[in-house]
Amino acid sequence: MRPLTERDIRTSFVNCSKGEVKRLNLPKDFTDSPWEDLDFLGWRDPGAPERAYLVAERDGGLVGVALRATSGASRAFTSRSMCSLCLTTHTSGGVTLMTARRTGEAGRQGNSVGQYLCTDLGCSLYVRGKKQAAGDGITDESLTPAEKVARTRANLLTFLDKVTG
Ligand SMILES: [Zn+2]
Repeated sequence: MRPLTERDIRTSFVNCSKGEVKRLNLPKDFTDSPWEDLDFLGWRDPGAPERAYLVAERDGGLVGVALRATSGASRAFTSRSMCSLCLTTHTSGGVTLMTARRTGEAGRQGNSVGQYLCTDLGCSLYVRGKKQAAGDGITDESLTPAEKVARTRANLLTFLDKVTG
């Protein structure tokens, strides 16, 4: 994706209030992000661990989504779970259920979309082999990194459509 500025990020959010956008903390050193290896910029709020955000390009514009991580309900150490965007398999804690408030009337009525995501939102790096997940390597995936990237982007757009649709 193209490098983003703080202004790009703060003006991209579609599912939170202006106050929330003002208060959210950007990732530390985000300007040094490996932009060419990212399908979206995703991070956990350094000042509020239950909050997470992702900003992606869609139709030439930017869509920012605020997420809330569900804590607790951690599974046994030996269990594995899979991120629904990048399909990376992690051991306990590597995947977190995150919910995004939907935009518009649906959001005002309290509707949200839940998705299992890599806890660190590092999907882009996992599919490119730039980051290794603990517990990965047991799947017999025959896809190339480029195919995994394409699949992750498709899953991401589907998710964004559910939030804004
Ligand atoms: Zn992922």
